[in-house]
Order: sequence, then structure tokens, then C-alpha cells
Amino acid sequence: MSAQANRVMALSEWENRWQEGRTGFHRPQVHNLLENNLDKVVCGRKEVRFFFPLCGKAVDMKWLADMGHTVVGVEISEKGIKQFFAEQNLAYNEESVSAIPGAKLFKSADGKISIYQCDLYKFSSAVAGKFGGIWDRGALVAINPCDRQKYATLLISLMNNDCRYLVDTMEYNPELYKGPPFFVSEEDVKNAFANNDGSISRIPGGGCDIELLQSVDGFEERHKSWGLDSLTEKVYLLTPKAQ
Ligand code: SAH
Repeated sequence: MSAQANRVMALSEWENRWQEGRTGFHRPQVHNLLENNLDKVVCGRKEVRFFFPLCGKAVDMKWLADMGHTVVGVEISEKGIKQFFAEQNLAYNEESVSAIPGAKLFKSADGKISIYQCDLYKFSSAVAGKFGGIWDRGALVAINPCDRQKYATLLISLMNNDCRYLVDTMEYNPELYKGPPFFVSEEDVKNAFANNDGSISRIPGGGCDIELLQSVDGFEERHKSWGLDSLTEKVYLLTPKAQ
């Protein structure tokens, strides 16, 4: 972790990636770890409101919307958002967002998928309410390591009492690759989301219970060019601690 602690990606660097088509993080298929664990997130509920932090053009948004859920995403790149609607063949409307100066809202014509184009840290429950489900893939691992407390504080503030938050993390040797995605250990998840260090103790509900659901070999061919020879993907289920 310490090897990456001071690494910072500016928003402009993300935008450059989109402009230059360097979006190797995108997957054309629904993420297997979401598919495998969906029952544990949905828990028999209908029409769950899902939040996708740092959504990119994740096809998982359309997959959940087709099941009758609604999705709200936040993404800085307008190009990425427009690619999402084009690639999914979805008509959309574009609006300004009075609560966030400079932000835009891209909403599918059927109203099931809304993507806010803005910096995540400008987003809050005052803009779009709270959520019953969260799918965090390429988000906790993509934010700057120094922002993890701030990120967790925001995400916890977006959770309804019945919210079930699935987060996908990666473990590899951080001496070999500088990220993103950044190395996030179980301890990092606990430090950020469990109420064990005092710094988020003022949050109503006092942080999250954390359960490791799955640990899989996530090593792919493309990781060789990062200088790695192993990578473990772990998904955790976060639920608000009983108040
Ligand atoms: N979750 C997506 C994208 C992962 S890559 C997927 O799994 O495919 C991380 C994404 O977050 C990029 O699309 C980048 O443009 C966006 N991003 C990074 N920092 C952001 C911020 N502070 N606010 C909003 N979007 C951000």
C-alpha cells in the first residue's frame, strides 16, 4: 500500500484516457462477480435503486435496468457517457443539474438510467437521494489512495438503511505496478468503511459491516504488461451497521 500512497491521478488524466481510447478497464460483458453475487445484493427486492460510482460505460448498468432496477451513475467523462448510450442503443436526454454547477445529467428516455457527468466528490444524497444497492467496480480501486476516507464517507452517506454494497478490489504486488487500479487490501476496506478508526464515527449508522464474499484469481493477459504475474480479485459485501 505504501508504495502507492502518494500516487495521484488528475481528472484530466482520466479524460485523456477516454479521448485516446485507453479504456482497457472496460468490459464488453456483464462482470462475472456481479452476476455471481447479484442475489446477495438484491436480496429478493424489486426495483432496487442502484448507484454506480465512477461508472464509465459499464454494461452492467443496462443489465440491471433490464431487470427492472434503476441505476444512477457518476462519471467525469462526457465522452464515456455518450459512448455508453450509443453502444447500448439507448435514447437519452441531457439536462443541467441545478445543485451542481457545471454538471450535466444524461438520462435514458425510459428514465431507468441516469448518469451525472461531474466529479464524484461534488455528488451527494441531496442531488439524487439514497440507494438500495451499490456496484463498485473500478471505483474504490480507481480513486486516489489519499482520498479513501473521503470516498467512504460519501458512499456511506448514499446508503439507505437496507443498502447492500458490493465492492470489487484487487490485490497484487504494488511494488511492481503503480496503478490505477490501485492495490486495495481487506485492511484498507476495513479502515475506510468500518467504524474502527474514529475518523468516520460521526456518520449516522457508524460505518459498515464487511463480509468477504469471493476471492478469485483475476490475472489476465493484459496484466503481464503491467509487470505482474499474479492478481487476486476480491469482492466484499458492505451493509450499514445496525444502528
Ligand atoms: N466502473 C467503470 C470504469 C472504471 S475506470 C468500469 O468498471 O468499467 C474509472 C472511471 O472513473 C473512469 O471512467 C474515469 O473517467 C472516472 N473517474 C475517475 N475519477 C473520477 C471522479 N473523481 N469523478 C467522476 N469520475 C471519475
